[in-house]
Amino acid sequence: MDVLKRWGLTPVINAAGTMTSLGASRVSPEVCASVGDVLGRFVRMDELHAAASRVIARLTGAEAGYVTSSASAAVTLACAAAIAGDDLAAIEALPMTGGRERRIAVMMGHMVNYGGPIPQAIAASGAEVVPLGTAALCETYHLEAAIGAGLAAAVYVVSHHTVREGELPIALFIDICRKHRVPVIVDMASEYDLKGAVALGADAVIWSGHKFLGGPTSGIVAGRAAMMRAMVLQNRGLGRLMKAGKESIVGAMAALEAWEVRDHSAETAREEAIVEDWIARLSGIRGIALARHGDWTGNPVTRVELRIDPAAAGIFAWELASRCIAGEPAVALRDDLAVHQLIYLDPCNVTAEEAVVVADRIRSVCDAAKIRSDGCQVTWDEEKRARGKGHTPWLGEVGDA
Ligand SMILES: *Cc1c(COP(=O)(O)O)cnc(C)c1O
Repeated sequence: MDVLKRWGLTPVINAAGTMTSLGASRVSPEVCASVGDVLGRFVRMDELHAAASRVIARLTGAEAGYVTSSASAAVTLACAAAIAGDDLAAIEALPMTGGRERRIAVMMGHMVNYGGPIPQAIAASGAEVVPLGTAALCETYHLEAAIGAGLAAAVYVVSHHTVREGELPIALFIDICRKHRVPVIVDMASEYDLKGAVALGADAVIWSGHKFLGGPTSGIVAGRAAMMRAMVLQNRGLGRLMKAGKESIVGAMAALEAWEVRDHSAETAREEAIVEDWIARLSGIRGIALARHGDWTGNPVTRVELRIDPAAAGIFAWELASRCIAGEPAVALRDDLAVHQLIYLDPCNVTAEEAVVVADRIRSVCDAAKIRSDGCQVTWDEEKRARGKGHTPWLGEVGDA
């Protein structure tokens, strides 16, 4: 059975990276087999949670681990754990916090939106979000002043979305918090490093199971045993609203074990060959300068950067991306920096055959725009307004009558 055909869905070639809007990751057959196996059976969930904790602890070096329904749910539940601890009455009362300390600090430059806003994921626990510093500057005294006024926890975000100048480095941030016994929650949903933040002493470190790990939708948390216990106990409160089922937990475990035994250098070589192929196939398009681009936060991924000169190319970067995805199959390009006339091609989720389709599509969209002179029509403001809508064409858009 072809699921896409059955429901009339457009096939997508994903050169954008791991995106929730495209169904997150391509889950490997081994991981699917584990998920399929457990779905038809019963398990004792306490045993499953214990087994997941052991797998996560082994891969991260942490005392314990926990699987949630997503990384964003893990942020909320880690904050809930920091506020309510293992007090069952307090857990059931959240997001009402009674007289408990509920202030949770996060640097202003870390208040990103990964599809939803991180301050909301924190506040959903019942926390009062305490912003540290300003957009691109946070000093140690900002953190120390917040600690002095009382904190239940502090959140640190590692992501290409954050401001990366003027921020406190993670080691210093954790150090200061630990000195004052303030728990640190690290959201590094998209980062390949499974050990660094744990080794620095973070209380809870969070990854997405469905990003680079290639698992089904899930969140993976590693950290101190007391913190993990408090997170598990949130299942009797807020955690129930965002519960991870046996399929998510088994899928996250299987994805972690697949990651453990994967030949990472062979995977890097495979991606490298696609990058080289893209550069060869796309060179010579008028108005597009190509470059190899290292990952923003140092993950071992190289992408192809397309720097577009609209006057010469006859098309704006955002128009190129939206025309590529409008075709059949849909070809998704990474366009979050399109306002700067930059497009990136991400090799992680693309096969060698798909890479050819991506390059051909880009070339034909550019050629067509030049021949028809129909590019450079939609301004960024118009594009942004269109994208700012709710994307619910099957139900009408936000603001429609
Ligand atoms: C993707 C991402 C999230 C959200 O992850 P989900 O597992 O999809 O909820 C949260 N934080 C950061 C930094 C992310 O990159």
